[in-house]
Amino acid sequence: MEEEHSELSNVERRVRALETVMTQKGYIDPAALDVLIDTYQTKVGPRNGARVVARAWVDPAFRERLLRDATAAIAELGYSGRQGEHMIAVANAPGRHNVVVCTLCSCYPWPVLGLPPVWYKSAPYRSRVVRDPRGVLAEFGVTLPASTEIRVWDSTAEVRYLVIPERPTGTEGLSEDALAALVTRDSMIGTGLARAVGET
Ligand code: FE
Repeated sequence: MEEEHSELSNVERRVRALETVMTQKGYIDPAALDVLIDTYQTKVGPRNGARVVARAWVDPAFRERLLRDATAAIAELGYSGRQGEHMIAVANAPGRHNVVVCTLCSCYPWPVLGLPPVWYKSAPYRSRVVRDPRGVLAEFGVTLPASTEIRVWDSTAEVRYLVIPERPTGTEGLSEDALAALVTRDSMIGTGLARAVGET
């Protein structure tokens, strides 16, 4: 497990070194690279997870399979691969909220969420969400009733978590695609909620 963590940071170091060399030689524009990375963090990557969540909202049998064996259920939709081999789905419900962290480094379910956001990898998030999840969620704009239990799941090289946010009210008539559009990246990490209808 430790090896896998350090292997990941080794990859990150090599990527950084490559980026530096390519920038110095003028092959790449760091600003363009930032745009590309942001696209994968916020747009392309998390859309896979959003489709998984939307399917779970409309298909109770799929939801059951997802909660029983997330890796297999997610693979049904065609999403699999590195950093997604051992997925566990945790579902929010009235009175229960789930949030995901990797206290050791930045383990994250790549096949469903893409690249982790910078804050997910930051030391303050990693340490504080364990000690004070309610306070950290409030900083993300998520205020939960005091009676809501918050569970914090620590990702490792062994397991990666996907939060299934609660389906917003008033979405009974929406198509699966329209529902997926309500599922934000943060709602699948647990630092956000699914969008309400009409909220952008
Ligand atoms: Fe990690």
